[in-house]
Amino acid sequence: MSTTVEAVAGVFGLVIGSFVGVVVDRVPRKESIVSPPSHCVACSAPIRAYDNIPVVSYVLLRGRCRSCGAHIPPRDALLEIGTGALFVLMGWRLASVWELPAFCLLAASFVAISAIDAEHMRIPSPIVYATAALGAPLLVVASAGTHRWTALLSALIGGAAAFAAFFALFFAVPKGIGFGDVRLAGLCGGFLGWFGYRYVVVGFLVGFIVAGLPAVVLLAMRKVQRRTQIPFGPFLAAGTIITVLAGPPLVHAWARI
Ligand SMILES: [Zn+2]
Repeated sequence: MSTTVEAVAGVFGLVIGSFVGVVVDRVPRKESIVSPPSHCVACSAPIRAYDNIPVVSYVLLRGRCRSCGAHIPPRDALLEIGTGALFVLMGWRLASVWELPAFCLLAASFVAISAIDAEHMRIPSPIVYATAALGAPLLVVASAGTHRWTALLSALIGGAAAFAAFFALFFAVPKGIGFGDVRLAGLCGGFLGWFGYRYVVVGFLVGFIVAGLPAVVLLAMRKVQRRTQIPFGPFLAAGTIITVLAGPPLVHAWARI
């Protein structure tokens, strides 16, 4: 796609990334994501609109609150940069602009889910349900714009198959994975399935490889026990995003094996 599309996607990504920061902060504490407006955690001073420009304000204020000078953790700026970068990559890699809304939604949601899972070791179901509820109509938009109606069927089957496989895994390996992983797997399978069944297989393989390597190293170093639960969500999310972005070469490599 054109540089303009990537630039617009990047700016949207920074703004959505700012909202991702609010979600990561408030959803685990079961607080509203719309009110109250953003405020300093140290002095409770409301953050003015001109101090709430993604990344720019953080740099200009040198990571400090304008009212009390308290240090602002860089996490929110990192979430903004991460979301913005993923939106640019989506604009760069996806074949049609019609696919962008659905997969940018997926990227933003996965940044939030990964950040929360890494910190709290759980995947909040409201984010997974909201992504599925918003993602379904956006995949219809993608299908309509690209005239790929069969993609919707493979998305449905991919999502159901991934959910069923992880559901079985959940019962086969007690305490191995959480039920949050089962729901997340269904979401990953649905979005990957939109591109085709091979993407579902490759996406989960990449996720297992990304998750497996550190786990094997830690097991070998006896830093963790075999029973230790690892936050699997970020790896599942990473495998899906990597496969959406690097899809065709990865899938062709898989087809040659
Ligand atoms: Zn303050």
